[in-house]
Amino acid sequence: MRRRLRLVCLGWLLFGCGDDGGGSSGGRPVGDPCERSTDCELDCVLPSDVYPGGFCSRWCGDDWSCPSGSQCMDLGGDIYCFRQCWTSDECRDGWGCGSAGACVPCGVEPSACAADADADADVEDTPDAPDEGVEPDAADADADAGADADADADADADADVSALPNGSPCTRASECRSRLCLPPEMGGVCAARCAPDDPCDYGYSCVPFAEDSDANGRTDRVGYGCYDWTTDRTQDGLACTEDVQCRSRLCEGGVCTRLCGSAGDCVPLTVCGSATLPLDDGTGTYPVCRFETVAAGEIRAVPIATLTMSTGTTGRLGELWMPPNAVSLQLFAQQMGTRGAYLGVLNAYDPANDRIYNYDDFVEGRDTPNWHMPDSRAASFFVPISNRVTFRVGRYLWTPVMFAPDGTSSFDDAVEWSAYVKFDPAGATAGRLAANLYFVGCGVTASTAPTSTRFQAALDEWERIYATAGITVGDYTYRDITGSAATTYSTVAYAEDIDQGEVGPLMALTAGRTEHAVNVFFVHDFTGYGLLGIAGGIPGPPAVHGTTHSAVIVNLDGAWGYGGAFLGQVIAHEVGHYLGLWHSTENPEGGWPYGGDPLADTTTGDTNNLMYWQAAGGSRLSAGQGWVMRRSPTVRTP
Ligand SMILES: [Zn+2]
Repeated sequence: MRRRLRLVCLGWLLFGCGDDGGGSSGGRPVGDPCERSTDCELDCVLPSDVYPGGFCSRWCGDDWSCPSGSQCMDLGGDIYCFRQCWTSDECRDGWGCGSAGACVPCGVEPSACAADADADADVEDTPDAPDEGVEPDAADADADAGADADADADADADADVSALPNGSPCTRASECRSRLCLPPEMGGVCAARCAPDDPCDYGYSCVPFAEDSDANGRTDRVGYGCYDWTTDRTQDGLACTEDVQCRSRLCEGGVCTRLCGSAGDCVPLTVCGSATLPLDDGTGTYPVCRFETVAAGEIRAVPIATLTMSTGTTGRLGELWMPPNAVSLQLFAQQMGTRGAYLGVLNAYDPANDRIYNYDDFVEGRDTPNWHMPDSRAASFFVPISNRVTFRVGRYLWTPVMFAPDGTSSFDDAVEWSAYVKFDPAGATAGRLAANLYFVGCGVTASTAPTSTRFQAALDEWERIYATAGITVGDYTYRDITGSAATTYSTVAYAEDIDQGEVGPLMALTAGRTEHAVNVFFVHDFTGYGLLGIAGGIPGPPAVHGTTHSAVIVNLDGAWGYGGAFLGQVIAHEVGHYLGLWHSTENPEGGWPYGGDPLADTTTGDTNNLMYWQAAGGSRLSAGQGWVMRRSPTVRTP
């Protein structure tokens, strides 16, 4: 009568032995081209539009440490180790030595690849040598040209020769070649001009400021200048309370945000809106990424990207900013192709830049706060999966990963990544859960279930247990699986190989359903293991139907003889997994490195808990378990 959790056991066996994708056999150093992680000493950032040819590197957002000869940089949200350089000769084709002293793709910093000839001039370009009369470097040339055009009215052609280059301390615009002197709070230095749709070079952010355009001592318009943030690490999307903390000098809605030239400059859940800037003469406005207003109670599906991924390697870093009133985030990845792989997240960082998940730590038993197990074909990463995790406003980052089932095969597939974000200004204190019930060649049917005393007693027990966690279960639909599917799946064949067995195909029969509900299949039996039930994931797809994980399956005939309450506990247990609960006590002989879930208020060995690994009659949920379940995007707000 054991309840066994296939996801845990299989996943652990598989990933326990094949974990870091064969990481360190290839040996290429940081910056070299690569196609998979086995090419590199560290890992491979896969070829993409941004990184043609890929490059050997690794994510370094946790401690900003990189191997010697490389440095950690945030290149538009991609925080990786980049090879250090003095000139572009030291960088591979298509890459140049960027303003921060590391090789970067030409497409990211065009001036890095154009500016070699100016390298010597750069060295001499100090405030003490203002008479050279040449543009200091190609990087500034474009912006300066624009600035000159912009400031024609007060520009004095002669002044260009003697005026100060960018970065020089200044008090008045007329002292600067660029005709722009940033105000003291932004450094009080000459700076290149920029615009919301004309950003600065890497290492600088385009910041708005109150400008005195006619030098009459009164600010009269919004100016934009390139602010050097290289000594400041508060990146876009991270928490702030005031502008000066931010690299962008823009703190909005509790996070450092940025200017936007178009909607495409803002990450999902933020929009390109307008902010005001007080001037001595009137009020100015500038465009800035700010959080969308989301209706209370909404569960927002957020498309992220369809990535071409390769087994054994990581994919392009994902980024989402959580708005105020968001209570949870469930990332969801789905393979598009037919050859099954394992999908998941390798690392994840929260808006405090704390690492909340690391795959190696997790599978090796070094407790990581936000548990997650990569899963076959469709996988979820749910934050917060424990009340030890603080869910924060701002930027979440994650590294997607794909594994081959055998740990070694190499193949590619398109993987669709999306997110489900739940909004509840009331803080998820209560919830509603609907259920689609399917009957598959078992002793109850869609027509007999609504009047079956024992089956209704099971639903009553499920409702009673979940009510203790503030969740109202109801809104049932009843449906029979008929025809050959009923015959085939009446007894569900269970197999370790993800492309064999019938668990996935049965769960996929939910395709086409549209209810915001959890799918529960009732079958006659499982082959082999004496299972009472299986959940499609921890958590399962967030009310997404038609995937091989979009349901729980309950062994109705196996539980029936123990009475309605027992059957109700089995349903409640499996749906508990689906909403994000791990076993409160794990099978001590299962080879799993944890005694039980990551929650602080469940006790290992407590057989009264609903999520005890065996059907021991427990039906209790701790406060922490309810806290997690109510945050599931499968559970609606009341
Ligand atoms: Zn279980």
